[in-house]
Amino acid sequence: MKSLVLEEKMRLSLRDFPIEREEVVGPHDVRIKLHTVGICGSDVHYYTHGGIGVFQVKAPMILGHEASGIVTEIGPGVTTLKPGDRVCMEPGIPDPANRATRMGMYNIDPAVRFWATPPVHGVLRPSVVHPEAFTFKLPDNVSFAEAAMVRTAGRRCARGHQGAGKTRRYCARDWCRSHRPCDRAVRVGSRLRTSLRQRCRRYQA
Ligand SMILES: [Zn+2]
Repeated sequence: MKSLVLEEKMRLSLRDFPIEREEVVGPHDVRIKLHTVGICGSDVHYYTHGGIGVFQVKAPMILGHEASGIVTEIGPGVTTLKPGDRVCMEPGIPDPANRATRMGMYNIDPAVRFWATPPVHGVLRPSVVHPEAFTFKLPDNVSFAEAAMVRTAGRRCARGHQGAGKTRRYCARDWCRSHRPCDRAVRVGSRLRTSLRQRCRRYQA
C-alpha cells in the first residue's frame, strides 16, 4: 500500500513516502496499521486551495486524519492496548504543558500537532505511530468505517456544547433535530450513540 500525497495544490500522487520507514515506536506509543481513513473537507480544501489560512502546503504532505486501524506493535510502557486491537485515533496531539491541555480542553491547545495540517503528515498511508493516550480500543459492534467517523460525530457534539454554553443555544438543539439515529455521522455504535443522545438531551434542557 502506498501513501496519498498532496504534492502541491491540485496535484496528488500515490507513492512510497519516507516517513513510513522513519517513525519509531516510543515507550508510550503504538504502531497502527491503517484500515479506513475518511476524506474530510479540510483534505479536499488543501487539495483545491493548497492551504487553509496560515497553514499552507509548502512541501509534499500525506492527507487524511479521520482513521481507524489495527495495533501491530506497542511500546514497553503501553498498558491498555495490545497487538491485534481494533482502534480509532484522536488526530490532534496536544502539548501536555499548555494551559488548555491541563484544563482538559486539549482540542483547543494552540500548539496541537494535527494530522494532515502542514507540516504534520496525515494518515492516508500504510501505518502510523501514535501515542497510546490518543488511541482508543473499539467495541466489537463498531466497524472500521464507523470508527473512522467517530471524530466527526464527536466534533458535531462539541459544537453543540459550545453553542449551548454561550448564546447560541440553538446549536445543540438543531444538531439533535437534524441528526437522526440513521444519520451516518452518528452511526458509530450503540455506546457512542447513546452517550451523544444523553449529552444532547442535557444541553437541550
Ligand atoms: Zn476533518
